[in-house]
Amino acid sequence: MSSVLVVHGGAWAIPNDLAQASVEGVKAAACGGFAVLKAGGSALDAVETAVRGLEENTVFNAGHGAALNAVGEVELDSIIMDGRTLACGAVSSVKNVAHPVSLARAVMEKTKHVMLTDRGANLFAERIGVVTVPTDALVTELEREDWIKHKSFDTEVREEFNAQWAHDTVGAVAVDCVGNVACATSTGGIRNKMVGRVGDSSVVGCGGYADNLSGAVSCTGHGESILKVTLARLIISHIEQGKSVAEASQLSLQYMGDRVKGAGGAIALSPSGQWSASFTTERMAWAAVEDGVLWYGLQPNERKKEQLS
Ligand code: ASP
Repeated sequence: MSSVLVVHGGAWAIPNDLAQASVEGVKAAACGGFAVLKAGGSALDAVETAVRGLEENTVFNAGHGAALNAVGEVELDSIIMDGRTLACGAVSSVKNVAHPVSLARAVMEKTKHVMLTDRGANLFAERIGVVTVPTDALVTELEREDWIKHKSFDTEVREEFNAQWAHDTVGAVAVDCVGNVACATSTGGIRNKMVGRVGDSSVVGCGGYADNLSGAVSCTGHGESILKVTLARLIISHIEQGKSVAEASQLSLQYMGDRVKGAGGAIALSPSGQWSASFTTERMAWAAVEDGVLWYGLQPNERKKEQLS
């Protein structure tokens, strides 16, 4: 069985000056995650590695470079899920942690819970010896400038909401050589969000879902809309009903647009290695590796190819 790994660097407009860096970032993360699969590693290890790479990269709204909330602070959300057992772990509104995806994995593996939030997540991080970073270490100059520029947003005005985004949420899905699937998603959330606002990214079935019986999905876009339609699980249920991963994603994103006027994107794959990257926003940086080939894109219907050595 051949392994596949797909990553996204978030939906929305992605301005031209960040386009190249976004594409390079997702390509590097996809190759990093795929290297784990190539070495015989699990889908779970691969998605964590890919998302850690994206959290490290300040171009994206996750870990370093995260969006700031209404009081100018970083509050991070993340999920990871193992399709073998449906085990999942999540953290929300967590602070001072550079790699929330790894903290989410620790919640999955070291607690009896699925999600820890805010102070509890930070206390847990401290208890298991996660190295914390100073608040400002995760804040980039660009994000601080953009935050000052866009002090408010109106989610009803889609174009304006779209236009104020420079970079976004990250995620990965993978299937390994024994057919296990996994997903991971990580974000700083929506800029200027209320303190304590939790979006879709850390919520199981919304920002991500993975089940060996059907596939794995990681979502991005307007969190409140994604929550309302449980986007990741909606895509999975279309797959369960026999749709291809691409059709399932497009139908679900279309439904979210029609039903709650929400825009977004999703990467999805099946245990047999069928995969897709779909979005209803202007752009979404994504990359996928399969059979020695790196695929990537940013604009609608763009699908470029590079042979890997
Ligand atoms: N879905 C994320 C959130 O609402 C943001 C994004 O993906 O654009 O927190």
